[in-house]
Amino acid sequence: MNNDFYAQLVNTSLKGRAFTEEILHAILTSQDIELLPLLNAAFEIRTRFHGQAVTIHIINNAQNGYCPEDCHYCVQAKSSRADIEEYPLKSDEEILAEAKSAYEKGAYRYCMVFAGREPSQKRVEHLSRLIRDIKLKFPIEVCVSPGIIDLEKARLLKKAGLDRLNHNLNTSQQNYPNICTTHTFEDRINTLRAARQAELQLCSGVIIGMGEKASDIIEMARTLREMNVESIPVNFFIPIEGTQLKEQPALDPAYCLRVLCLFRFVNPEADIRMAAGREIYLRQMEVMGLYPANSLFMEGYLNTKGTSRSQTLQMIKDAGFSIRSEYSLDDLLREEKSPSCPPSDSATKSLIKGLKDLRPHLLVQE
Ligand code: SF4
Repeated sequence: MNNDFYAQLVNTSLKGRAFTEEILHAILTSQDIELLPLLNAAFEIRTRFHGQAVTIHIINNAQNGYCPEDCHYCVQAKSSRADIEEYPLKSDEEILAEAKSAYEKGAYRYCMVFAGREPSQKRVEHLSRLIRDIKLKFPIEVCVSPGIIDLEKARLLKKAGLDRLNHNLNTSQQNYPNICTTHTFEDRINTLRAARQAELQLCSGVIIGMGEKASDIIEMARTLREMNVESIPVNFFIPIEGTQLKEQPALDPAYCLRVLCLFRFVNPEADIRMAAGREIYLRQMEVMGLYPANSLFMEGYLNTKGTSRSQTLQMIKDAGFSIRSEYSLDDLLREEKSPSCPPSDSATKSLIKGLKDLRPHLLVQE
């Protein structure tokens, strides 16, 4: 493809025009569209809306396991036999300590995830108290992933000061029955609608590599655009022993980068976040993901480990990006005295977080 083609991609995206199915399909699959100029085009859009800044998110499992749903990829699902450390809801003190720690580590946003189908009224009231406490004590944005909720509950969370609500699409409408049977794609859309109606910002992500086709990825990107979703975590499926969804064909780095570019073109203003699997599938090309994406998770994911904080911060610095935080990147890096190593063993079992990773503040209180 000549330079005009890539310039046209930028132009179409910045003008908010729709891309044809054919172009989007080619971005994902055609070698005629070269990776470097494609990344460069995505970078032009990224810088227009987000400059050189990287927004760091730290995610926290407020509860682990005990979920009645059967999402086939998830180690916390009732159908999963994966070897995880289950625990009921963490104490308020533990959650507050984690929010403080996330703030001090340079996170712009602290994300609390609650396993389960839908929160009870009591759980929503409790969550509201927690959100108020965190917002009162730390200047950090708060995102909550509460499960399926209705408008009334979304309004309560908004009133408590919640900034953003997460509810992932995960996969396309057509592929949904292949990855979950206890709730539907429509349930997910309805939760996002309720949150939007309550004037919450929306975070809704995808998991790539669960048997979906290129057309499914395009459909997800378009659905998120139609709903004006502000934040899109792009996960790459990590098969874990014991879950229902078996190993899928491996994703390669170039394909993962094309996926990130596609989400950037279709959702030019959104936060596009490199999420689970970035270390495994992007490998040596990981830093290139920051050209289409403007955000990442640090210190691992819900149930799997990622590279260390120092490695993530160093990667951001080495590539010439800055971070969106009250703390400077240089100061945060200086504080890193003994960088720990990334998971050296690619066996998925060794990637599963233990209690030490999931509840680093537990011992402090007991
Ligand atoms: S993804 Fe969420 S709802 Fe689905 S099984 Fe896991 S914790 Fe439960």
